[in-house]
Amino acid sequence: MGMARALLLRGSESRFLSQTLPHRPFVRRAVRRFMPGEELSDALEAARRLDQLDRPSIFTVLGENVESADETRAVAAAYSEALNAIQERKLDTDLSVKPTHLGLDLDPALALENLARLATLAGGMERLVALDMEASGYVDATLELYRALRSSHANVGICLQAYLRRTEEDLDGLLASGPMIRLVKGAYNEAESVAFPRKAEVDANYLRLARRMLEARREDPGVRVAFGTHDARMIAEIVQLSDELGLPPDACEFQMLYGIGRDLQAKLVTSGRAVRVLVSYGSHWFPWYMRRLAERPANVGFVLRSMVRR
Ligand SMILES: Cc1cc2nc3c(=O)[nH]c(=O)nc-3n(C[C@H](O)[C@H](O)[C@H](O)COP(=O)(O)OP(=O)(O)OC[C@H]3O[C@@H](n4cnc5c(N)ncnc54)[C@H](O)[C@@H]3O)c2cc1C
Repeated sequence: MGMARALLLRGSESRFLSQTLPHRPFVRRAVRRFMPGEELSDALEAARRLDQLDRPSIFTVLGENVESADETRAVAAAYSEALNAIQERKLDTDLSVKPTHLGLDLDPALALENLARLATLAGGMERLVALDMEASGYVDATLELYRALRSSHANVGICLQAYLRRTEEDLDGLLASGPMIRLVKGAYNEAESVAFPRKAEVDANYLRLARRMLEARREDPGVRVAFGTHDARMIAEIVQLSDELGLPPDACEFQMLYGIGRDLQAKLVTSGRAVRVLVSYGSHWFPWYMRRLAERPANVGFVLRSMVRR
């Protein structure tokens, strides 16, 4: 792992930085690149604009590792409010949620209760609730949560991370159940014992897993596959693979973060591919934002330029 990436990921876990930096105006200005604003209304306006560009969206309320059951219920209520607003505006928007934000750390039964309620509400609106995958220590509990939810809710999906050595086996275990899976490279600071340390290895694993997912989609159109990446090379390879397998152009979805890879998003939509954009909002954006900087340390220049801009 590069030194800059390691430092930024370490910073994302710092309580001191997360309590001080978000109040600095230059940091707030730089964050606007990746999130339209802190309020639901900001996300709804972004989704409306994206809809006009034929890019449906996904909403995430930022936050993780909450400390009380009441807090998790407040998070669930914020997601319910978002679903009702999405429905009212007829937006094509799904949800993506961090299990620890809904209580996985405190009590898995509480997370399940919160998520089941959300999945029921979203199901009545034909919308998907995807579980994000957090640091490696949460993978088993997240898979368990997903299985419990899926047994009564078809509209629940899960994210898998190509940087983890275990993911190939996890994917095999999931494919038979006609799942909805988003494959990402992985955003956390992981030890070599659990994650591939080199980008080339992560990329090779990403493509190996993507092939498995597309083949499963060909066998069973009920399998929903999404690729959460801005990597133009990965995307070109996946498009080619999908075509070679004889799948229709919109058989898989490319998911990207708001504000990243906009030209690539436009190019994919023009060529008939499905693109969905993840819009994040909320006040707890610090660790999430640091992970975005770590993905591309060149973005730190962006923050520095925001310091001198008025
Ligand atoms: C929809 C979505 C959902 C996600 N959900 C999860 C999750 O649940 N769990 C998890 O661990 N991770 C998640 N991630 C993050 C993911 O793991 C990666 O950290 C992130 O997508 C960066 O990797 P990449 O595939 O874009 O490729 P990289 O190899 O990091 O980058 C490839 C190229 O993409 C561009 N790029 C990538 N990131 C940025 C950036 N921040 N700013 C500007 N350009 C950039 C650059 O051109 C770069 O050269 C999610 C990502 C997306 C898009």
